[in-house]
Amino acid sequence: MTLAIDAPPQLFDLGGRWRPGFTTLGSAFFTDLPPTPLPAPVLVGLNEGLVRELGLDPRELASAEGVQALTGSIGVAGARPVATVYSGHQFGVWAGQLGDGRAILLGEIDTPLGPQELQLKGSGRTPYSRMGDGRAVLRSSIREYLGSEAMQGLGIPTTRALSVTGSDAPVRREEIETAAVVMRVAPSFIRFGHFEHFASRDQVDELRRLADYVIDRFYPECRSAPTLAGNAYANFLQQVSERTAALVAQWQAVGFCHGVMNTDNMSILGLTIDYGPFQFLDAFDPNHICNHSDETGRYAYNRQPNVAYWNLFCLGQALYPLIDSEEVTLAALESYKTVFPRELEARMRTKLGLTDAQADDRGLIERVLQLLAKDRVDYTIFWRRLSQHVAGGDTGPVRDLFLDREGFDGWLLDYAQRLPADRSAAGIAMLRTNPKYVLRNHLGELAIRRARDKDFGGVQELLALLQAPYDDHPAFDTMAGFPPDWASHIEISCSS
Ligand code: AMP
Ligand code: MG
Repeated sequence: MTLAIDAPPQLFDLGGRWRPGFTTLGSAFFTDLPPTPLPAPVLVGLNEGLVRELGLDPRELASAEGVQALTGSIGVAGARPVATVYSGHQFGVWAGQLGDGRAILLGEIDTPLGPQELQLKGSGRTPYSRMGDGRAVLRSSIREYLGSEAMQGLGIPTTRALSVTGSDAPVRREEIETAAVVMRVAPSFIRFGHFEHFASRDQVDELRRLADYVIDRFYPECRSAPTLAGNAYANFLQQVSERTAALVAQWQAVGFCHGVMNTDNMSILGLTIDYGPFQFLDAFDPNHICNHSDETGRYAYNRQPNVAYWNLFCLGQALYPLIDSEEVTLAALESYKTVFPRELEARMRTKLGLTDAQADDRGLIERVLQLLAKDRVDYTIFWRRLSQHVAGGDTGPVRDLFLDREGFDGWLLDYAQRLPADRSAAGIAMLRTNPKYVLRNHLGELAIRRARDKDFGGVQELLALLQAPYDDHPAFDTMAGFPPDWASHIEISCSS
């Protein structure tokens, strides 16, 4: 008789110190389960900058075992992998229970950036997968990896991406593609939908536990705030509203379209989260819809500010049992309506190089946006060329972007009057505010095509540009140019 002895499970030692974090909330909030291995994973991209910021070792993560761990193909020592449960409103309709259908939270580690959660996306089926396969394809994983680091490079709050790994394992979407996994990093991946979940089930104890956890960890000042009748939960709602307002103002200013602003894709910390069919605008079209599946344009670029408020209203409804006053709940949401326009105006002033606020600035901003929209001017190139003009260059390059040159000349005269006396300082500040490089769809697409052929150089090249988007990188000038004609035919949908 022979005894079959299983080899002990191999574990990768990440080197960080693990904390109990989310799992202290208790079993109503998650299901314990390990990621599902993928065969023969390869490293598509490692974000060495972030690896170092977290105090981890890039060589170890790039080793064969490291890559397996980043894919969920082997376990991580000290981690407690779970899938969390949430619900949410999708496209304006209550969708009921959703949850981490293809994400696994490994846990929380101490880092020089403070405690950070590590999450694998695309790491297999969970009890919340519904009809899904628990996987993510290479194309969308590269987009998330680059998109989140582009936002970070721009200084916009976001979840981050440590790595993307790929496997030849087939994944069925519209056609057969291959699987990939992104290791994401954030102080917390908690969404509005986590609150909606427990509120919708009248699980007030769990709802309170969740709110207390988030307040204690991330919004402790709400406990002692005298505003809103001294109600900690109302102050929390107000803080989330203000962070969300500031976030969406930054999206609008940089020309970022999220694409799927469902309440389960809204971070309770005001981070950009869940990079799906997102897009940085090419030509400026306020009505632009980046998500091919969004037939009504619910998440069009110019609707994002209102949708964010609608989503906050859902969060308010979820928190209402804790706040226990309709009046105070509504008052907590009110601040969005003042903070969003204030933040947007501040961002646009900075883009214009204006250092103080004047009453007719809003008019100046609106007029230039109208001119951009009328001629469908490239949004990023416009701001960069305007910055170069203010920094000392002539008007030609920026003026040439417009068909309505007279209209632009009129605006430019008024703008020149409004600029601070030290124009070159204003120009230099503008060049640090208006990026040269954004993750345009076609740039991502070119890197994805190379990656499909196992050439991952394009992904890392683009990552380096996007992490320093205000620098010139003269060797990569073509990546700061107009999108090619085929770019407008790229269809990005919810399929990922
Ligand atoms: P999303 O639109 O990507 O935010 O996803 C909405 C919900 O569907 C979340 O609960 C996801 O976890 C889940 N989901 C999306 N894609 C998949 C997939 N391929 N397999 C399992 N669940 C998925
Ligand atoms: Mg999501």
